[in-house]
Amino acid sequence: MNSHQLFRRSRTRLALWYALVMGGILSLSGFGMYRSLVQSNWAAMEREMESIAGTLHDSLEPMLPASEDPTTVLRRILPELCLAGQSCNASPTLIQRHTTGISDRSTYYIRLFNHRGNLLAFSPNQPVALPQTFISAPWQTFRSGNGDRYHQFTIILHSSESHHTAPQSSPHASWGYLQIGRTLESFDAEVKRMQWILVIGFPIALGLVAASSWWLSGLAMQPIYQSYQQQQQFTANAAHELRSPLASLLATVEAILRLPPSNNQQEIPMMLHTVERQGRRLSHLIADLLFLTSLEQHSSPKPLQPCCLNDLVSDLTEEFLELSTTSGIHLTSQIPDGEIYVLGHESQLYRLVSNLLANAIQYTPAEGYVIVSLEAHDHTAAITVKDTGIGIAPSEQTRIFERFYRVDSDRSRKTGGTGLGLAIAQAIAQKHHAHLRVESQLERGSIFTLEMAFSSSGTQKIG
Ligand code: ADP
Repeated sequence: MNSHQLFRRSRTRLALWYALVMGGILSLSGFGMYRSLVQSNWAAMEREMESIAGTLHDSLEPMLPASEDPTTVLRRILPELCLAGQSCNASPTLIQRHTTGISDRSTYYIRLFNHRGNLLAFSPNQPVALPQTFISAPWQTFRSGNGDRYHQFTIILHSSESHHTAPQSSPHASWGYLQIGRTLESFDAEVKRMQWILVIGFPIALGLVAASSWWLSGLAMQPIYQSYQQQQQFTANAAHELRSPLASLLATVEAILRLPPSNNQQEIPMMLHTVERQGRRLSHLIADLLFLTSLEQHSSPKPLQPCCLNDLVSDLTEEFLELSTTSGIHLTSQIPDGEIYVLGHESQLYRLVSNLLANAIQYTPAEGYVIVSLEAHDHTAAITVKDTGIGIAPSEQTRIFERFYRVDSDRSRKTGGTGLGLAIAQAIAQKHHAHLRVESQLERGSIFTLEMAFSSSGTQKIG
């Protein structure tokens, strides 16, 4: 499987997982919301019914007669109700009176039963298909023959006289029952509307989730893909860099082996020098590669130590003095009196500044100047390596920190450069949370600046 297929497959898998997880969360929350809406509507409806029933109960109870045949009394106190077994032509003003404020008054009906469960009276708008048998459960939901659903609440009525006269244990302690019910048509319509919203909205939301998952997984894969490509490029570059000195080394060895024995004495030492040079170059390159790899492995065995930058700059200036003198370059340093400490790995910081100095000397023609200076402002220490050398074109300035990138490969190779010097410097700077930048003008020179925060535990005494 090639890398392209591998990344595509990983992206698809990631998108599927995203979609699955987000779809799951969406379904759960959608269903939860639907359930809670249905339940809160149901609870609101039951509260309303209870409150109407309570109002009716409180109005009726004081007027109820103790008699078991309440026909005449009922007719007097509830003229709006139809009496069971008699013709019904009452207008539903009772409902209207007690359900004031309810939007749809015709929704509710009332039924009155005696304590034996026989129907005494009912409101004219009661559904035709209501069960005639009395069920004493407080809440009931039933479906009429034509498919309409009804919900009904039953409350016990006590007459004021029966309260006082009936013994506590008597089964006739209650006068009867008041039932208030309503059609569930509007409630069911609302539930259906919510179900439709779910049925239509859910696939749309899932489609959006799938599309956004694909896009998100693409975003998530991008840095991995880029890093993979960089690694591939790095491997290819490293192989290329290793191949050239190795090929030259092998060619020299072969030439030595082919030399006639008579020539051995004059030419062999010279050729062995070439072998040694190429061998050193290879070893240098491998050491640089290993160092870069170790920098990238974040765990560092050694803890950060306070490093004195004054000592670091003066030691390096001293070390490079001989090389600069041989190259005919004036190397000077500017170091403040007060010591500046930063937290870091001294050997790595040493390597960083040494790479900058080596480059400055390498890319500055004879009679040029290289100045290395150390400064401190606003909790930041800055080491600047300035040269009056060949400079770097603006288009190259961002690329010189890439691994194996050389502005002028031939020149750089001739001077022994591996193209890893600035990549190593940048990696060290990043590891120390420092900032390495370049300002340069072709034929005028370059300035490399390393900025890093002071050590909190170090001392700073700038004179
Ligand atoms: P090398 O080992 O080839 O010097 P580096 O990573 O150190 O590799 O530098 C990358 C490239 O940046 C070099 O090939 C060189 O062209 C350019 N460069 C670095 N420092 C300087 C400088 N001070 N002046 C001019 N060019 C520079």
